[in-house]
Amino acid sequence: MKKTLFALCGLLLSASTLAATPWQSIRQPISGAPHAIGSFANGCIVGAQALPLNDPTYQVMRQDQRRFYGHPDLILFIQRLGAQVHNLQLGEVLIGDMGMAAGGRFSSGHASHQTGLDVDIWLQLPQARWSSQMLLKPQPQPLDLVAADGKNVVARHWQPQIDSLIKLAAKDDDVTRIFVNPAIKKQLCADAGSDRDWLRKVRPWFGHRAHMHVRLRCPTDSLECQDQPAPPPGDGCGAELASWFAPPKPSGAPIKREPPPLPPSCQALLDNHQL
Ligand SMILES: [Zn+2]
Repeated sequence: MKKTLFALCGLLLSASTLAATPWQSIRQPISGAPHAIGSFANGCIVGAQALPLNDPTYQVMRQDQRRFYGHPDLILFIQRLGAQVHNLQLGEVLIGDMGMAAGGRFSSGHASHQTGLDVDIWLQLPQARWSSQMLLKPQPQPLDLVAADGKNVVARHWQPQIDSLIKLAAKDDDVTRIFVNPAIKKQLCADAGSDRDWLRKVRPWFGHRAHMHVRLRCPTDSLECQDQPAPPPGDGCGAELASWFAPPKPSGAPIKREPPPLPPSCQALLDNHQL
């Protein structure tokens, strides 16, 4: 039931946020000591940094969208992960959406990514670096990792390097959650062996068939940042995961939800910008 409701909220949110949002007109980070404000799905960020776009250990896709900003902790995390993957020679890390210059709500694509603490990372590790043209128009084919029935990954697309990439990210101390498709979590559960603690952070979620969404904890400098409660104890490979594969329960009439009001500090920031 809860799951159905979430799916519904997701749909309604995406339908109601297709229009441009005022955050998109803020092209440069708000100057000030870095701090994330509010929650992942309703917040903003002061003092965001741009991820360096030329780095030997990762590549940044869709740079034209300018969604490559984040809290310095997020920049450091991406650089840490890139270096680890590079040292292990697993392939090239492909970075997707982070946040906008001042965070806030995108017009499309996500409800979260608003506080500079979320990043999408593709679940493929090409052996050769992509050209700038490929990065501008990324082709995920053949990268729907999940079979049409949604129950399993496509065996020929699944590689041990993808296990390693997700595991490296989950073992990072700053990471609190990683969202992947339930079929991907199922594969990770099957592959994990006895080292399983990191699986607690890997959460099944809708979509996420070709990328993982990594979320960091609220940084210590961010007093107005709201963390989520920790995931339930355990590796999450049992009943909770199984519930994602059960037939959906019938739900009542759709509930129309307006986005919640902005945190006052974010509203003030927006009002200042629009003066
Ligand atoms: Zn995401």
